[in-house]
Amino acid sequence: MKNLLCPQCEIHRFQIKNQLGENRIVTVNDIWEIIPIYPDESLDGFDLTMLYCLGCSWSGSPESLRKGSHRH
Ligand SMILES: [Zn+2]
Repeated sequence: MKNLLCPQCEIHRFQIKNQLGENRIVTVNDIWEIIPIYPDESLDGFDLTMLYCLGCSWSGSPESLRKGSHRH
């Protein structure tokens, strides 16, 4: 399964945050599932609708990520 990419810098790791200011590092696959890179970390309570790119200043929804297979 492919990971979706940041529309700006094309890396595939993102942070998500919760109300306590904690964060998790995740990837997003091509059916828009949010996958923690450490499988034993819970995503309970985290906001899965807003991603923060680890490589640049981009943030946005999972739906706005780029499919990785081709460039425009
Ligand atoms: Zn980026």
